[in-house]
Amino acid sequence: MCQTVLDCAMHYSSLGLAVLPLHYPIKYQSQLVCSCRNVECRSPAKHPTVRLVPNGLKNASADASVVEGWFRNQPWNIGIVTGATSGVFALDVDPRHGGDNSLSDLEAQNGALPKTWRFLTGGGGHHEVFRHPGGVIPSSVSKIALGLDVRGDNGYIVAPPSKHISGGSYSIAPDFHPDLADAPEWLLARICSDPCEDAGGTIHTSGPVGRNEVEEKRIRSALQCIPADNRDVWLRIGMALHWTGWGFPARSFWDDWFRTSSKFDPRDQDKTWRSFGRGRQTGRIVTLGTLFALAKTNGWRGGSSNNKLIAHAAGVLLARGIAPHACLDLVMEFNANHGNPDISEEEVAAIVAFVAGREFDKRAKRHEAGAHHV
Ligand SMILES: [Zn+2]
Repeated sequence: MCQTVLDCAMHYSSLGLAVLPLHYPIKYQSQLVCSCRNVECRSPAKHPTVRLVPNGLKNASADASVVEGWFRNQPWNIGIVTGATSGVFALDVDPRHGGDNSLSDLEAQNGALPKTWRFLTGGGGHHEVFRHPGGVIPSSVSKIALGLDVRGDNGYIVAPPSKHISGGSYSIAPDFHPDLADAPEWLLARICSDPCEDAGGTIHTSGPVGRNEVEEKRIRSALQCIPADNRDVWLRIGMALHWTGWGFPARSFWDDWFRTSSKFDPRDQDKTWRSFGRGRQTGRIVTLGTLFALAKTNGWRGGSSNNKLIAHAAGVLLARGIAPHACLDLVMEFNANHGNPDISEEEVAAIVAFVAGREFDKRAKRHEAGAHHV
């Protein structure tokens, strides 16, 4: 999967996981101590480095250039932020507190956990990572059972190939499964048994749009209408999904949609997803609105039929030489006054941007053709 700290950190970020540089073990008088050099460190080789991430989890990032800056030629341990931010949570099984026995008991009663991402901690325990189900997953210590901790919202785990203070290394378990699984209902029921108490009193809206089931359904239905055969469309869909900031779940929508194409290449997906993090490489504004607009031009009827009207109006205005920003103003006003409650301003903007892009392409082609004739 990955070897060096930099490779792994970049790999995690390419999956939409927010990462953090953590302190690591160093040798001091033939003993391993935390690189923070505090002899009384309470979380040796596990806590974020204040120099790079002064606000801890708040500074975590899935942005490739930020992550590369932190980890290139640096020995930091890697933290993966759990919770809605990354779209994952982890069950931390700590055998020193009886976590292994607790988990065996629970599995005997309810059935085995599904195969999923499994990391071995350098101290003898393991992390079972699951897809975040949405809502709030509170982090807890030995709440669901002795030795079973939950790293959910506002939490993080130490990830491979980090070094443990005991001298061991965090590693990918031999039975690691590359597809992230949903947690079984019985586990979620135990984790969320007390819904009034959440991790930090805050509900995360991790992206420009809060991740929710309705929006996910809408995305899935829209994607079904978009043919997966054109590279430009493939890029736009990827960018639109990346823009949500939903992390891994958004990435898996992109994968699932494109897997129907013969051009599907997991490595290309990885590399390109990572490049979205660098931003501004195309100068195009691509949002979920773009995705829905694309679906609509392919006959998707998940939205209002007024979308076509807006696209048409924008096309007419732009073709007559009206500047895109003026066109957007006009169309926004039209939309507001003609009451289309299910078309958001953002969606109108995306439709206009899409039509404007097409109009510019047409003009460029005409211009090119004209140049050839001269
Ligand atoms: Zn320390």
